[in-house]
Amino acid sequence: MTQIGHYISGSALAGTSDRTAPVFNPATGEQEKTVALASRDEVGRAVAAAKAAFPGWSGTSPLKRARVLDRFKTILWERGDEMARAISSEHGKTHEDALGEVTRGLEVVEFATGIPSHLQGEFSANVGTGVDSYSMRQPLGVVAGITPFNFPAMVPMWMFPVALATGNTFILKPSERDPSASLLMAEWLTEAGLPEGVFNVVQGDKEAVDALLEHEDVRAVSFVGSTPIARYIHRTGTANGKRVQALGGAKNHAVIMPDADLDMAANALMGAAYGSAGERCMAVSVAVPVTDAVADALIEKLVPKIEALKIGPASDSASEMGPLVTRAHLDKVRGYIDRGEEEGAKIVVDGRGFTAPQGFEGGFFIGGTLMDRVEPEMDVWKEEIFGPVLGIVRRNSYQDAVDLIHRHNYANGTAIFTRDGDAGRRFAQDIEVGMVGVNVPIPVPMAFHSFGGWKDSVFSDHAMHGMEGVRFYTRIKTTTLRWPTGVRADAEFSMPTL
Ligand code: NAD
Repeated sequence: MTQIGHYISGSALAGTSDRTAPVFNPATGEQEKTVALASRDEVGRAVAAAKAAFPGWSGTSPLKRARVLDRFKTILWERGDEMARAISSEHGKTHEDALGEVTRGLEVVEFATGIPSHLQGEFSANVGTGVDSYSMRQPLGVVAGITPFNFPAMVPMWMFPVALATGNTFILKPSERDPSASLLMAEWLTEAGLPEGVFNVVQGDKEAVDALLEHEDVRAVSFVGSTPIARYIHRTGTANGKRVQALGGAKNHAVIMPDADLDMAANALMGAAYGSAGERCMAVSVAVPVTDAVADALIEKLVPKIEALKIGPASDSASEMGPLVTRAHLDKVRGYIDRGEEEGAKIVVDGRGFTAPQGFEGGFFIGGTLMDRVEPEMDVWKEEIFGPVLGIVRRNSYQDAVDLIHRHNYANGTAIFTRDGDAGRRFAQDIEVGMVGVNVPIPVPMAFHSFGGWKDSVFSDHAMHGMEGVRFYTRIKTTTLRWPTGVRADAEFSMPTL
């Protein structure tokens, strides 16, 4: 059985703690690997390596740091297939979907290669007689990233390219469910010329996370995962004096207005609800058709498409949707469909009866599910299901739809389908959600913009990547300087004014 370990000081290392976790191939249900779970000592070793590497790396010019990332980017382009295969074998998503995630991560690397311009400071000449002032952004030191299972390459790349480009050293604690992508990234960064200790990987669970949150040499923590853990990370990290950005869960609504192009909306919903088996924080899990007539027409279009979904392993290039990540998660998603039924939702398409393709009977598969007449009092509306389950909440007006969205604790992404520019613009202005799509179902911002929700979907003042990322991973320093010409001879005891 393959053993997956850590990556510290430029080398792969086997775990030394006696704790491990199983890693499954979700398509077969077989355990194929074992991942080490780091002890506090192993985390300490990674932090020490990152701390030792910080003076050299932060002192390297931004242009040279950018060149290392540029070489890493070229490697990623060339070996995207290898990365995608590693992701699919542990996560279960289709090869095309895995390649898509690698590309979206790579775009943050592209953004980070522009770091000399992003770090340009401000200069003011003659702020007083003979006095100039300038500000610059300096790195924080050792920073950590703790990431979820659903994007084992892209989410780490929301973090470390910007963290490294700005001169920090980094420790990644990936999800223990799909840990291999992290090691490929570490090896390829070393190959691209990154000095040892600048990027380290510790595999692990709560013990490793707590060790990072409590370590006095870790200056900042970036987290992406579920809301209860995001809240915990933010509370514990800030209590320990760290800068923390923690992105949490989601329940994303798509409003379908009566004037929308229904074919476009139905196709968009298919990809947004069932792509990656719904295991995306930007998946649309609630459709909100405005008026019963729109709901009925939409359901009529969706049902045959859901029934025709090609569900299978990533090894079959015809697969449009793969299995869920683990048996426990499969049980949880099935449980939510049972719950919806008990709560009175109408199961229009039932994924629970799905039969896995031959040879993959042990895989964690479930079919696409559509639930109509979901109501805001139901748990299946309130809670994140994180599976291929689309709920329909019928509403009678634009305002009712907006009020429904505002009632939810999560506010990651949302979308509206309409041909009316006025309604689209009004929605984008008014809606209290962090990322908005107008006729765009999954409005994931590009790398040079920033990613982040509102309300219980985020615990942070800074979103990820783009200039928000640069601001998160740096602190500002402002210098005011005067040369001897113009210096007053007498001492001044009142508050200086220039
Ligand atoms: P998770 O919260 O279970 O795990 C995320 C990370 O936290 C992992 O590295 C895990 O090892 C660690 N962790 C888990 N339990 C912990 C504990 N008790 N103490 C300390 N650390 C712990 O999330 P997941 O199941 O891996 O990922 C799915 C979740 O992530 C969904 O809720 C999804 O919406 C969310 N997500 C959010 C975004 C976003 O941008 N807002 C993006 C992707 C995923």
